[in-house]
Amino acid sequence: MPENTAVASACAVPEGGLLSRREHPEADHPYRSPFQRDRGRIIHSRAFRRLAGKTQVFTHRGSDHFRSRLTHTMEVAQIARTIARTLGLNEDLTEALALVHDIGHPPFGHAGERALDAALRQYGLYFDHNLHALRIVEFFESRYLGFRGLNLTLGAREGIVKHSRDYTADEHPELIQYFLDQRPPLEAQLIDLADEIAYLTADLDDGVEAEILGVEQIRAGVSLFERFFAPMAAEHPGAAEKLLFQESVKLMLNALADDLIAETGRRIQEQGIGSLDDVQRAAERLAGFSPEMERLRREAKNFLYRNLYLCEDLKYGHEHAAEVIADLFRVWMADPGLLPPAYTSQVAAEGAPRVIADYIAGMTDHFILEAHRNLRKTAFTGTE
Ligand code: MG
Repeated sequence: MPENTAVASACAVPEGGLLSRREHPEADHPYRSPFQRDRGRIIHSRAFRRLAGKTQVFTHRGSDHFRSRLTHTMEVAQIARTIARTLGLNEDLTEALALVHDIGHPPFGHAGERALDAALRQYGLYFDHNLHALRIVEFFESRYLGFRGLNLTLGAREGIVKHSRDYTADEHPELIQYFLDQRPPLEAQLIDLADEIAYLTADLDDGVEAEILGVEQIRAGVSLFERFFAPMAAEHPGAAEKLLFQESVKLMLNALADDLIAETGRRIQEQGIGSLDDVQRAAERLAGFSPEMERLRREAKNFLYRNLYLCEDLKYGHEHAAEVIADLFRVWMADPGLLPPAYTSQVAAEGAPRVIADYIAGMTDHFILEAHRNLRKTAFTGTE
């Protein structure tokens, strides 16, 4: 059991406070809290279902066991929920934020995000998946008679904006309602760290499944993994390497989560943080790893960049993703009338580059490849 259990309970986002308000007021539900309802709305959204068709790191070709954005999201949610419960935070809000944290991601993983950003920069704009997630929950989801979007609580929307970085009011005057001069609640601060814990461990697993990473290579390059693997291998001579590997990844995940809970609790106690207001007014974010775990986290992340995310095996996929997105962007910029009518009608208000990016960002991998094939058949006919 980590130290500092429930140490943050006085700082938890309360049910019924300012952060549980909605832009369009709604009657209270008889037995579901505002943040439970946010979680339900996110899970029932179309954008959430599309996460099943979006790449995390690997496409599904080659194995049915690679994480998709949806299964990654579920892993983040369960890690974040455990941490929130142990610290005494608002578990429902934490879970809602974890479930929505990747909803703004375009197809093709980070390669897709880079390509979409590059396409927008030609027009003086840029792509930010947090801001796109906000557009999804505030505008693109359309399922209620009384309003556009999901009408999530202020706490959920603030968490979407601020879970992974701070925005300034000078840069983003449109975000002024999200208390940009304050730190986000601990529930939101946890999300980015739970995300790191989830993908650092899952990507080792998927990297081995894809036969791009080897267990010996991970032992040599990731100290936190080797810390668990070496004694276990000594204790269980003859055990299948695959099982030793899985056990070590699991212990690595637990060690990261334990450290995050203990260090965050330590900072809360040391700085005398006793309320949500204290969290919001603290000079720095309070959720974090200890210096030693932070070093080990960076080492694991650098290892994954060097050996997996930027490796030759994935290069073709990344280049293809960039090409598909650039092609579609070019064709639709030349003739925005080729977009579906719901998007064409937004061009006058938002400008073609933003509308095209919105359309592409919502696509699954399968859908964008189909769109690309169709465009090649029509728009490119006669030019090849
Ligand atoms: Mg994520």
